[in-house]
Order: sequence, then structure tokens, then C-alpha cells
Amino acid sequence: MGNVHAAIPDPVTPAGWFTRAEKEKLTEYPHFLGTLKQLHEDEGLLSPMQQWHLRYLEAWRAAYSGNLAVATPLLHNVIDHAGESALVTRASALLINVLSRDHHYEEAYELANTLMVDLPRATDSNARAEALRAIVQMLDLAGESDRALKYARQLNPGEASPENRCANYSYKINATSYVTTLSSQDPGLRRAIAICLADKQTVYADTLRLSRADLLNEEGHADQAVALLKRIEPGILRTGFQPHIAGLHVSLAQAYVNLGKDAEARQSALAAVAASDPKSFTWPLQTAYELLYQIEKRAGHDRAALAYYEKYVRQDKAAMDDIKTRALAYQMVRQQVVDKKLKLEALDKQNRILELRQALAGKAQETSRLYIVLLALVVVVIGLWTFRLKHSQLRFRKMARHDGLTGVFNRQHFLNEAARILQRLHQADAGACLVALDLDHFKRINDTYGHAAGDEALRRVVEICRRELRDSDLFGRLGGEEFGILMPACTCEQGIEIATRIRRNLAAALLKLDPETTVVVSASLGLAHSAVSGYAFHQLFADADAALYRAKHDGRNRLVVDAGGDTPVVVNADMPDTASA
Ligand code: GH3
Ligand code: MG
Ligand code: MG
Repeated sequence: MGNVHAAIPDPVTPAGWFTRAEKEKLTEYPHFLGTLKQLHEDEGLLSPMQQWHLRYLEAWRAAYSGNLAVATPLLHNVIDHAGESALVTRASALLINVLSRDHHYEEAYELANTLMVDLPRATDSNARAEALRAIVQMLDLAGESDRALKYARQLNPGEASPENRCANYSYKINATSYVTTLSSQDPGLRRAIAICLADKQTVYADTLRLSRADLLNEEGHADQAVALLKRIEPGILRTGFQPHIAGLHVSLAQAYVNLGKDAEARQSALAAVAASDPKSFTWPLQTAYELLYQIEKRAGHDRAALAYYEKYVRQDKAAMDDIKTRALAYQMVRQQVVDKKLKLEALDKQNRILELRQALAGKAQETSRLYIVLLALVVVVIGLWTFRLKHSQLRFRKMARHDGLTGVFNRQHFLNEAARILQRLHQADAGACLVALDLDHFKRINDTYGHAAGDEALRRVVEICRRELRDSDLFGRLGGEEFGILMPACTCEQGIEIATRIRRNLAAALLKLDPETTVVVSASLGLAHSAVSGYAFHQLFADADAALYRAKHDGRNRLVVDAGGDTPVVVNADMPDTASA
């Protein structure tokens, strides 16, 4: 194997290279990449087990750099085929992290549950620690802070290897912070930072120091927060770890706002936005928009302030949806676990009944009949119990996937389903239309008749749209009064026809909000087709959204179709802006 690090002699066996890679992952990421390359070059020398280990490290790298779509199948492969329990446990722990970052909470909680069940049998201390940390993280995400802390207390920093010592301290501190309010001077926090620095675990050390900066900000020591953040800035930028870079900028922005330095704050908040994926919803991005809104408002830039406010609200709503989705996914998996246990018990009881029946066959008729009646009663009770459980499980599933007001799919479920369906259509080479629909001047309805009337109008609109849709069409509420419709196996012309009917029916309908109030609402629609935009959901959605924007801009109550290139085509518009409530 070649010489990657001049200062330290290279290991002589593949095992040595793996030890080095594991050490470097969180301490010297660029060196880790070099070591990984070495391992790939010498793949022929690796044992089958080591080849699985190498795949795990590849998945780790993909997850670290935010490439979740690459990490997921690699990890499934390791879990299903590696056959070595420590590596499978570690891959499961990492997959839980990847799934939850990708908002696939149900799968993440199912996997976390498997880890919980297997935990008593985990003998490898590293794998056990990684499993515990994944469980703690998922419980905290579900708002189950007390349970999370119980698992976190099983993390034993004392007996952990250097790689795990710092991580265990960090998770314990983090789990504690959900249950009690930490101070920036908390001795546990300071010790965790010192240990992570001593162990050269920069990523964890940065996570903790960023939290500490936030605590300083909250405690009114913004100047100290700036000093700390400036000190760790070069290191964080060097790691290239996107969540930390965005977090750093936004904490700085917050500190500057607290100090009344709006110019510096604006610069830092914009840097946080630039470091974030604009399509994602994350805490740094949400806070950055909120701060930019405050800054622009103070500066008297009302238009810019409003634009940031809208972005902030969108982030905030998505974050709230996400919290709800997580909590429900957690409840659903818990229900499934109880359900499974009950089913096993029911089977066991039925077996015993059979045995009893046989035993009773020899006894007096009278007595046996009585027993059988009693036992049959037990079976009925168990049956009813199972039914009730199933019922509430279904209810949870519905709540997690549907919008409470209109009953159509919520944003998260719509996005997940649409991406999945598009992938299938792509394989089958069948076309699809995506329509983005936003009601015109909807604010006026709220302003004139009140929010409850606005809610009723939204329900009526959904009813009207639904009448034109096929069973196979996917209909979801993307936000306030904005909806998405995915029409699978649909030509552009068919899509235009359906969208046009929806638009005309909406504009023509008298919506009865209560016995005295009737209003008219129109909508603007943007349509994109897979033949032009391809099958990647993000592109299709962006094109439909751009067409919708154009429809608004051109006067509303119209359908605009994305035709590729810069000029969308206005397909139909009967009247100028009709939508006045
Ligand atoms: P435009 O034609 O430009 O779309 O005008 P608009 O008034 O519809 O503007 P915009 O889309 O920006 O605003 C949407 C408004 O919809 C804001 C809010 O008052 C209202 N809204 C959003 N969600 C709800 C909801 O759940 N219920 C009610 N009643 N109103 C909502
Ligand atoms: Mg609108
Ligand atoms: Mg809108």
C-alpha cells in the first residue's frame, strides 16, 4: 500500500488500514478519503468480511457528504448480506441516521425498534454504543426525551474506545439538554468539549461548541458567542461539513442581531442561506430567513422583509409538519410492536385451547362444554382487542399522511409518493403531468369573511378539484392554499384538458361558506410534463412552479404550461383577473 501520510508509517496489514480509517473518519476527514482510496486499490487482498467493512465505510462517506441516496442502498446491502453482527448493527445505526435525515421516519423507527430489541445481545462495545446513540437520537426526535435519557445513561464514556468516548459524552449531554436547561458554563458540557478536543474528534467538538455559542446567545452574552464562533470558524470551514457551516453562520447572525450589528448579521445570515440546500427545511435555514426578515424590516425594506417572511413561514410550517410526522411515525411503530406481541400471545392461547380440548375429550361432556364456552370467550376477547388495535393503527397512519383540514395528502407524504411514482413511471417509460395550483387573492377571503370561512372555502375547492381527478392521480396540499396534482400515465394534452376543467369549474363555482355567504374563487395553475422536465421530482416541480408563477404574473385565473426553454405557453385564460371574493 502506498504512503498517504508522510509523518506516520503506513500500516502493514489491511486490518491496520481499517483501524486507521475508523480513527480518521471524524478527526481527519481528508486523510480518511486517502485511506479509503488505498483500501479500494488493494481490494483484492481483503477478506470477504473486510470487503463488507469497506462498503460500510463507503456508505459512511456518502452519508457524511449528504449523499443520502447513495448511502441508503449500500447500507441495506451490508445489513442484509454482511452476516457479521457488529457490522450489521453499525450499518443499521447509520441507516437510521440517514433515513431520518431523509424524512423517512417510519422506516427509521422500525429499524430503531429492531436495534432496541437486539441491544441486550450486542457484545461488541463499539457497535453497542453506535446502536444506543441512534436510539437516543430517534427518541429525542419523537419528543420522547425521558426515554431518550434512559438509553443515553447506558452510554458508558468510561469504558469506551477513544472514538466512542467523545461521542458518548456528546450524546449524554445532548439528551440531558432536552430534559433540563443547560447553561453555557455547564461542567458536563465543558468536559465533553475538552474530551472531544483531546481525542481530536473535531466534528463532535464543533457540534458541542456550536450549541455552547447558542446558549451564550440565549444568556445575553452575544459578544462571547461571537468570540467563540470566530475561533472555531476556520476549523469548521475546513471540514466542509455542510450542517455545521450553515449552523456557524446562522449562530453568528443571531449574535450580531443581538449586538445590534445588522450589516454583519445580514452578511452571516446570507452565508447561512448560501450554505444550505434551498429546497431543504432545516433549522439554520429557517432561522436565517427569520433574522433576515427582522433585519430588512428594521432597515425599512418592506418588500425584501416580506419576501423573507414568506420563506420563513414556509420553513416554519414544514418544520412543524415534520415534528408531527415524526411523532406519529414513532407512535405507529410502537403500535405495530404491541400488535405483533399480541398476535403471538393469541396464537399461543389458541394452541393451549387445542391442547385443553384434547385433554377434555376424555372427561365428562358437561364440564368440557363449559370449559369450551369459557375458552371460546377468551378467543373472542382477544379477537376484539386485536381489531381495536388494528383500527387505531390505521387511524394513526391516516393522520400522519393526510392534511387535517382538507383530507388530501399532506406535503411530506405527497412529495414522498410523487417521487416514488415518478421513479416507477420512468422505468415503465410512461409520461406524467405535474400541476401546481394556487388560489387567487385568497387572502381577501380571510380578510373579508374570517379565517373559518377561508377554511371552509379550502374544503369546497378540494371537493371541486377531486371530481375531475382519477383514482390514480395523486392530490396533495403543499402549503396554505397551494396544491399539487400528479397525473401518472398522462400525456401533456390530457393533463391540459383536466387542468383546464378544474380551472373553469373553480372559477364558475359559487362556494357556499355558510347559509349567508357565497364566494367565487379562481386559481392559477402551472403544468409541467415529464417529456420536457424529466422524471426527477424536483425538476418537474420547479418547472410547474415557474409556470404557476407566470400564470400569476400574467393576470391569474389561467393555466400556463412549461414548454421547455424560457417561454412557457399560456394555454388558457378566459377572463382577466376575476377573483374577487
Ligand atoms: P395570490 O393570487 O398572489 O396567490 O394571492 P393570495 O392572496 O392567495 O396570496 P398568497 O398565496 O401569498 O397568500 C395565501 C393566503 O392564504 C395567506 C393566508 O391568509 C391564506 N391561508 C393560508 N393557509 C390558510 C389556511 O389554512 N386557512 C385559511 N383560512 N387561510 C389560509
Ligand atoms: Mg394565492
Ligand atoms: Mg399561496
